[in-house]
This record gives sequence, structure tokens and C-alpha cells, in this order.
Amino acid sequence: MANFEKVVVETDLLILGGGMAACGAAVEAAYWAKQNGLKVTLVDKAAVDRSGAVAMGLSAINQYVGLKDGHNSIKDYVDYVRNDLMGITREDLVANIARHVDSSVHLFEKWGLPIWKDEQGGYVHEGRWQLMINGESYKVVVAEAAKNALLQSGVGEIFERIFIVGPLMDGDRCAGAVGFSVREDKFYIFKAKATVAAMGGAVHVFKPRSAGEGLGRAWYPPWNSGSSAYFTIAAGAEMTCQEVRFIPVRFKDAYGPVGAWFLLFKSRATNATGGNYMVERVGELEKWGPYGRVKPIPANLRNYLGMLDILEGKGPIYMRTEEAIQKIADTYKDDPKEYKKKMKELESEAWEDFLDMTISQAILWAASNVQPEERSSEIAAAEPYFIGSHSGASGAWVSGPEDLQTDDTRKDYFWGYANMCTVKGLFAAGDASGASSHKFSSGSHAEGRITAKAAIKFIVENNTLPKVDDNEIGLKMAEVLKPLDTYEKHKNETTDPEINPNYIKPRMFMFRLQKIMDEYAAGISAQFSTNESQLNRALELLAMLREDSDKLAAENHHELMRCWENIHRMWQAEAHVRTVLFRQETRWPGYYFRADKPKLDEEKWHVFANCKYDPKAAKWEVFSRPVRHVFPKA
Ligand SMILES: Cc1cc2nc3c(=O)[nH]c(=O)nc-3n(C[C@H](O)[C@H](O)[C@H](O)COP(=O)(O)OP(=O)(O)OC[C@H]3O[C@@H](n4cnc5c(N)ncnc54)[C@H](O)[C@@H]3O)c2cc1C
Repeated sequence: MANFEKVVVETDLLILGGGMAACGAAVEAAYWAKQNGLKVTLVDKAAVDRSGAVAMGLSAINQYVGLKDGHNSIKDYVDYVRNDLMGITREDLVANIARHVDSSVHLFEKWGLPIWKDEQGGYVHEGRWQLMINGESYKVVVAEAAKNALLQSGVGEIFERIFIVGPLMDGDRCAGAVGFSVREDKFYIFKAKATVAAMGGAVHVFKPRSAGEGLGRAWYPPWNSGSSAYFTIAAGAEMTCQEVRFIPVRFKDAYGPVGAWFLLFKSRATNATGGNYMVERVGELEKWGPYGRVKPIPANLRNYLGMLDILEGKGPIYMRTEEAIQKIADTYKDDPKEYKKKMKELESEAWEDFLDMTISQAILWAASNVQPEERSSEIAAAEPYFIGSHSGASGAWVSGPEDLQTDDTRKDYFWGYANMCTVKGLFAAGDASGASSHKFSSGSHAEGRITAKAAIKFIVENNTLPKVDDNEIGLKMAEVLKPLDTYEKHKNETTDPEINPNYIKPRMFMFRLQKIMDEYAAGISAQFSTNESQLNRALELLAMLREDSDKLAAENHHELMRCWENIHRMWQAEAHVRTVLFRQETRWPGYYFRADKPKLDEEKWHVFANCKYDPKAAKWEVFSRPVRHVFPKA
């Protein structure tokens, strides 16, 4: 076996990930740990300052309820999320985040994040729930607060560049995690009384639009690879909404954000003949039950109307940037000086929107001579991603807060500690927890805080370090490092290290996974459409891929990480395919279309589709859970 030093870390609370949810968890945990004499350990595969989906920065905070100003109520937010998710949402979880999210935003501002202000000193809203920010350093600001909270209080420690592979178990209780350094020959064993999974969602499960020379460019940053899903599945936790992937429509090829264009600049998107699918296809919305009639129209239905244009050969679809800018500037047309000033301001806002969060879009515009005030830009539906905190909903099935349960919901939605999975001592937040979408960066931070507080309560009430069998640790270490051994053993049996009958490199393994998902599980090549036969074929091919994962080979630490990233993706893929197969209807056209079950079926399928893997029996189970209401429906 590869010669790695074994490092054992014992802690009370283990936070896995260093993104928005983990940083929220760190801030809250530091406070409660100090009160209770506990230790907190945070582990990130990267450097917390610039890790996760917010690494590059953001141009807007997408969840701010504005409770203080009386702008909206918690119920308003729940109504919005329920409608956007076509009726399938955990209202207790969404409401819990909504009532705490504003305080996370106020903390960001206190820590130094510049939030745009209007002339009266109020926040500038991009849309009803979104605030405009100068957010290129958003993650640095949030990370600094988390690091200060853990390190200055003396309760915490932070490990960076440690890739977490999977859980440690003590019977039915989570006992921590194992991982390895991506820089040094070190294998880590983290033993903990409670563990928070907050390792984000998953990208590159599906073949991306950007292949070949553009590989790595995706809407979702490439470093979140399904580790949260793998960790919770491998621990035996119940998962939810695994079918609810997210397909963002973004500026084509560099995936620049469209929010500011649609919401702030009030831009239209039109097809190649100038037609506006949101107007011309409005009748289509009637087919999608009550959800087609609500405002705002659910994200997947908006996608779907554009996709119908593409299928009819009316593409490309364009964001009419020139028209939107002109319309705003025209209000100043009688004053040439003000007009010129406004045009300059709009132009700089347009570029800054990209420079704040998707720099490559600005580079692509510059490289292809796009001047948004003069010329429209193409937009397109991206490949599917798993991001339960955004407009998808996949993640672990977690307990809701006690005080928001009704007699009805208490049976299914509550088992003691907020955000605890169905596995004792294992908690999930951000993209890792499901059925509570639209929490975004701010809501993920708030959910991290909620989760850490509940996890500390769990520790105080279950204050024993779970036992971990040394034998199990030895087996795990051998399993984790095996790709290095496989490479060493067979590397000389070929003239090209990339090709060898005895092993598969992670890059080729990823291409194989992506091809399966793309062609059979409704990826871009399949025009986001699938059916039962295709899904069954995907499962057959995934089973063979799983068999071959035993032959993954790694030349170095970096490739070892790539091997495990792809194993994580593979499990996320299987959970997805099994759940899409289970749900016998099309509920989210625009995310995926079940061509053999092309309609919404409210009577039978107004339910959650949950799944669970039994690691001992090596068997999946997929089943439904009721959708229950905490608030009366709007
Ligand atoms: C392209 C894009 C644009 C967005 N735009 C906005 C926006 O404008 N406004 C807004 O409010 N929200 C936006 N969001 C949503 C927001 O970024 C997410 O909701 C939020 O980051 C989720 O928090 P998280 O902690 O779950 O995941 P992340 O913040 O992504 O953090 C995941 C963490 O896990 C770590 N990790 C992953 N795997 C491992 C492993 N195996 N071992 C150890 N650590 C691991 C990562 O390094 C990272 O630190 C956007 C998201 C994306 C992808």
C-alpha cells in the first residue's frame, strides 16, 4: 500500500467543507462550543478563502426576505419556493431558513461586504428577493469571519487541502470521516461526536457543453463533485429530490449570469426570428397545473418554453442587451449629458456583473467584440447540475425545526435535531440538505448556522466519542489509496500511461460517466429527454462503471482526488437515475422530460421521491414521502 502517514484527529464537532454553509456553521459553532467547552474542526479540500461556488465572487445575494422592513413575510418566501419547485418542497425547512437569512446578510455587511444602497440608504434590490452587491470578495469576507470565529475563540482548528472521501461509522451513528491530503503523503481519520456534511453539490456528472478545449468551463464551478451526496448515501442516510437537477439558462459558452439582465435591466430574450417565447408560448403554461399560472413562472417552465423554440429550429435564443440598455437610457434622451452618463453607467454595470462572478464571460465578450449596448448575446440551457441550494432540490432528507411542525408534519418531518439526517450524529446543510431550495449563498450560510447550533445540542445530549474499529480504518485506508497502488503496479506495462488494460485513469472514467448520463439520462445531447428504457439502460451501464471503478489508477495526489471525485459523481448519478425512473410523470419540464410519461400527475405524484442505499445489503430502495403543509397554500 502507498506509504502514507496516518493522522488521527479527535474532535467534538466536525464540519466538512469550507463553503457558505460550512462558514455559517463555523461562526455559530464557535459561539456554542465556547459555552460548552467543546472543540470544532473544519476540513476543506481547498483553501476556505476562495473555495466553493462563491469562490470567484457573486454579483447578488439571492435570498433576502426583508422582514425588518415589512417587505415580505416568511410565508411569502415559502409560497415562492413551493411554486418554483412545482409544489414539491419542505415548507418547514424553507421557513426556518427564511426566518434566519436576513441576519446572515446583516452579518455579511457588518464584516465588510459592500451591498448597493439607494439614495434613501435602503438596499438596491435586483428582484423581490435579491440584493445587488460588489461581491468579488464575498467569499473572502465570509471566510475571514469563519476563520476568526474558530481560531480566535480558541475552540477550533481548520484543515485545508484535505479531500474528504467518506464517513466513519459506529453502528448506526456517524463517527466522523476519512480523507487524504492533496499535497502530502497523509491519510486523515477524523473522529467526531457529530459531523456536518457541507461539501456542496455536483458538476460534471453530465457531459458539459464545453468539451475538448473548453473542458472545465461549466456554470457550476468544477470543484464540487458530489461529495455531500456520496457521504450521506454511504452513511446510509435517506436522500430526497434526487431527480430535481438544475439547468440554468445562461450566456452561452461562458455561462455568465442572466439575473441582472432579466431582473434589473428588464431585458427580453428572443429567438432567431425575433419572437419572444415567453409571450408566444404562454398557452403552453396551462398544461402544467397550478404552477403554470403563478408569478414568477417557475424556472423550469421558463427554460422549457425556450427549449421548445430550439426544438422547432428557431434558435439561437438571444438576450436583447442592446434593447434593454437603450430602453433605460431613453428615459434620459432629452438631456444629452445625463444620457451619456447613464449609458456609461449601464455599460459598466453590465461588465461588472460578469467581473464580479464569471470573469470568463467578460473575457469571451471582449474576445468576440461584443458590446452589449450594440449587440445581443446568445443564451442557452446548460447541462444539468445538482445544487439543492439554488433552483434544484437534491440532498439529504433532514429533520425540520420542532417549533414549525404541525400535528400533521411532525410524523414525517421531525426527529429531534434540526438538519440531522436520518443517520444519528450526521447533519447536512447548504447543497447537502434537500427539499429546501432557493436558499442560495445567504440561505446556505443561515442554514449552516441553524445546523451547527442543533449539532452542538446533539453533542451536549450525546456526549460520547463514537467507537471506530481500527480494522475498519485499515480497510478504508487501503480502499482510499488503492488507485495509487494500481498505478504503481501496472505503470510499466504500457508505452502511454493514459492507456493500460489494467487500469482506467480518472479523466477517461469521467468521460464514460458523462456519456452515459448525457445520452440516457436526459443530458444536452438527448435534448433533456429520457424514458424508462433509456433509464434502465443507464443503470446497466452505471453498474458496469461501478465494477470498473475498482480499476481506477492515480499517478499522484491530484489524480487520487480526481479518482474519488468521480466515484462521488457516479453515486450521485445513480441516485438521480433511480429517482427519475421512480417518478412516473413529468413534473419539471425544462429540467428533464420523461417522454413516456409526458404529463404532470398531481393526483399520484404530489409527493417526495426519496431513496436510500443500504451499505450492508448493497441495495437501493426508492419510495415516496408525503408533501405536507406548514402554511396554508397561496
Ligand atoms: C454559478 C453559480 C452562481 C451562483 N450565483 C449566486 C448568486 O448570484 N447569489 C447567491 O446568493 N447565490 C448564488 N449561487 C448559490 C450559492 O453559491 C450556493 O447556494 C452556496 O455556495 C451553497 O453553499 P454550500 O456551502 O452548500 O456549497 P459551497 O459554497 O459550494 O461550498 C462547498 C465546499 O465544500 C468543499 N468540498 C467539496 N468537496 C469536498 C471534499 N470532498 N472534501 C472536503 N471539502 C470539500 C469545497 O471546497 C467548498 O469549500 C450561485 C451558485 C453557482 C454555482
